[in-house]
Amino acid sequence: MFVANPSCVPGRFANSQNCVRCELCVNHVPEVFALDSHGKAYVKMQPQSQVELSLVLQCVETCPISGIRDLK
Ligand code: SF4
Repeated sequence: MFVANPSCVPGRFANSQNCVRCELCVNHVPEVFALDSHGKAYVKMQPQSQVELSLVLQCVETCPISGIRDLK
């Protein structure tokens, strides 16, 4: 079952509480993802452009634990 990091802002994308802190998504789209006080990724802002959306979708595909939810 997917449990979102509660720090995520509401919207299409969210990071799982099971994030393993690889920092891939944070490094790939720092405009969207950040690390919380536990070093886990969360969505600080939903993507604001097609470019950011494309980058986030790449992260959805490449997160090693499939830990980024896409509600679309
Ligand atoms: S890519 Fe996945 S495991 Fe890595 S920091 Fe992002 S949410 Fe966590």
